[in-house]
Amino acid sequence: MASQRFNALEDVLHRTPNHSTPDPRRVSEYFGENTFHIKVMREYLPEVAYKMVKSAIENGTKVTREIADQVASAMKDWAITKGATHYTHWFQPLTGATAEKHDGFFKPIGPGEAIERLEGDLLVQQEPDASSFPNGGIRNTFEARGYTAWDPSSSAFVIGKTLCIPTIFLAYTGEALDYKMPLMRALNTIEKAAIDVCQYFDKNINKVNATLGWEQEYFLIDSALFNARPDLMMTGRALFGHAPAKGQQLDDHYFGSIPERATAFMREFEYESHLLGIPVTTRHNEVAPNQFECAPMFEDVNIANDHNQLLMDVMEKVARKHNFRILLHEKPFAGLNGSGKHNNWSLSTNTGVNLLQPGKNPKSNIQFLTFFINTIKAIHDHADLLRASIASASNDHRLGANEAPPAIVSVFIGSQLTKMLDDLEKSIMAGKMTPEAKTELKLNIGKIPEILLDNTDRNRTSPFAFTGNKFEFRAVGSTANCAHSMMVLNTIVANQLIDFKVAVDKRINGGDKKDEAILKELQGLIKSSKKIRFEGNGYGQAWVEEAEKRGLSNFKDTPRALEIWQDKETVKLFDGLGILTPVEIEAKHEIELENYILKIQIESRVMGDLAKNHIIPAALAYQNSLLENVSGLMDVMGEKEGKALAKTQIETIKALSNHITIISESVDAMIEERKKANKLTTASEKAYAYCDNIKKMFDDIRYHADKLEMTIDDEMWPLPKFREMLFAK
Ligand code: ADP
Ligand code: MG
Repeated sequence: MASQRFNALEDVLHRTPNHSTPDPRRVSEYFGENTFHIKVMREYLPEVAYKMVKSAIENGTKVTREIADQVASAMKDWAITKGATHYTHWFQPLTGATAEKHDGFFKPIGPGEAIERLEGDLLVQQEPDASSFPNGGIRNTFEARGYTAWDPSSSAFVIGKTLCIPTIFLAYTGEALDYKMPLMRALNTIEKAAIDVCQYFDKNINKVNATLGWEQEYFLIDSALFNARPDLMMTGRALFGHAPAKGQQLDDHYFGSIPERATAFMREFEYESHLLGIPVTTRHNEVAPNQFECAPMFEDVNIANDHNQLLMDVMEKVARKHNFRILLHEKPFAGLNGSGKHNNWSLSTNTGVNLLQPGKNPKSNIQFLTFFINTIKAIHDHADLLRASIASASNDHRLGANEAPPAIVSVFIGSQLTKMLDDLEKSIMAGKMTPEAKTELKLNIGKIPEILLDNTDRNRTSPFAFTGNKFEFRAVGSTANCAHSMMVLNTIVANQLIDFKVAVDKRINGGDKKDEAILKELQGLIKSSKKIRFEGNGYGQAWVEEAEKRGLSNFKDTPRALEIWQDKETVKLFDGLGILTPVEIEAKHEIELENYILKIQIESRVMGDLAKNHIIPAALAYQNSLLENVSGLMDVMGEKEGKALAKTQIETIKALSNHITIISESVDAMIEERKKANKLTTASEKAYAYCDNIKKMFDDIRYHADKLEMTIDDEMWPLPKFREMLFAK
């Protein structure tokens, strides 16, 4: 029975690095080669069409049907030169991952005759067709066929033999069915809000882009070992497995040299990524054994996110060529570090200024402080929404666990900026400020160094940290679509900037000078957002207690974290800014709950199957061998002496029975709980039942199964062990 495990180990022993032949060209020569980017368009499109698409990319203007035909035709011609035979809309449904439906370019036009064709209506934004309005609840709306609309800002690309066209995905009723559409709305909103605020400082600013640089963590496991672990295959994480004697205590993997097989894999997926215009630049080992990270240069949020989605896909495909499987799950191995996807975020202007980068003089520093403090205030006011934006069944295993951000949202800014904010809070006086007081204040503000000293002295335990010229949102999970957290973050900051502008204008209209109005308003924000700032160790129990005293939320699981989507204020905020309608919010909440239920349900089923059909039989087989041994000893030595000699075996037989009974009974009880949960009618009730009654039972079942792993003969254990999965190179 354990043969699959040993065959797999045998396979691993004979693996060699699979180095592909390197492309002799420099990266700069082939970067983006498989994308239909603006330079290629210039080559393939007539001048008028080129200009219209360029404007669509830069200013979000629409492309006419006639031009869309030309673009489609050019796109097809280009894709055929890259070997493409099919095309697909590439989109990001709320149910996770990316979706594709491939269609051939090939169109029969008569008997024995065919041509290659791509029609412009595939690119043009179709109006929703009201006649096919589905009636009934949101569920109907969402299950009904949606329609897709081209996103010209993200380049089409060729993968294998398929042209992929990045699209948004909408219901016929116009509701967004994907992650991209709400994200794009949020990005437009923050752009407008930020431009308005920028006018206080520089009238030349007429464009502001939110930027995102993600860092993707992952584990690599040999494919043979992966295939021998049904839990990894079905759920992406090990539901059972005793921690290895050596884990990550020595921290010897972190920044150590990358194993050669892994390097060969990295080279190839980086090459593939570069062909697709994904600017991956960094690679290194992470803390846990066989855990790695890669990161790109940052880009505009929408593009960066598409690139992250695409990269996860590319990694998955390339890994298989190297006899690896990639684990993107947030917590594949209990007791070891989980994986995250840090979201580095900032705002940048058409004048080349990073709005979260301290400047050279008082004026640019007031601008910096404005965006910096407003962001903190937004996090303070909407911490629960930010928490909800990263909630998922898989991230629940990581948040608050080993070396991972706690489920409590807080902001770290470093000692220099803390001092700056404290000073500002104290030194801005009520009433009219004297010219001397103002000069002194400005001098102080001018002193924020362009490069912050404690840049390097980072607090790695903060879920939302300022890192010198950007904020880093660390609680995002490794499997997540960043669009979701980015949609929420950009919405709440936009909302705060809008409020700020109103308040400052009011002061100015009341007779305050501009600078004074801004500083007084900032002072108020510093005060009212103080409790979200935390500079200490976010991983400690002391923080949990302190946070509770401060009145900060600590939602430990997804159903609870998601409640905020039902809040009236949430609906008002998102609907008011035109980012999500009440129907979209309700649907989103429901879909997220359903994803949660399904994930836990699958884990629970796989756990039951492994326990009953793999683990218990192995334990029984071992127990039988002990029983034979005991009866043999008694046959030969006589009952009394035989029993005495078999003392250890008899103890073990009892212990095995104990574990087997508990596992078996718990699995049965868990099945009963599932039956009860499945009868509940609302997604919310079900999610709570899965969380509080079913998932709760996992730990006990696992505890006893892991004890069995440590008890029975290694030769008989059916599942690859942690040490084998993590240390096999
Ligand atoms: P680390 O956090 O590992 O020390 P860096 O500070 O160089 O490394 O940046 C990490 C990530 O932050 C990279 O993906 C990088 O592209 C991104 N980043 C840097 N500047 C910005 C910015 N202005 N906006 C968004 N992301 C950024
Ligand atoms: Mg980082």
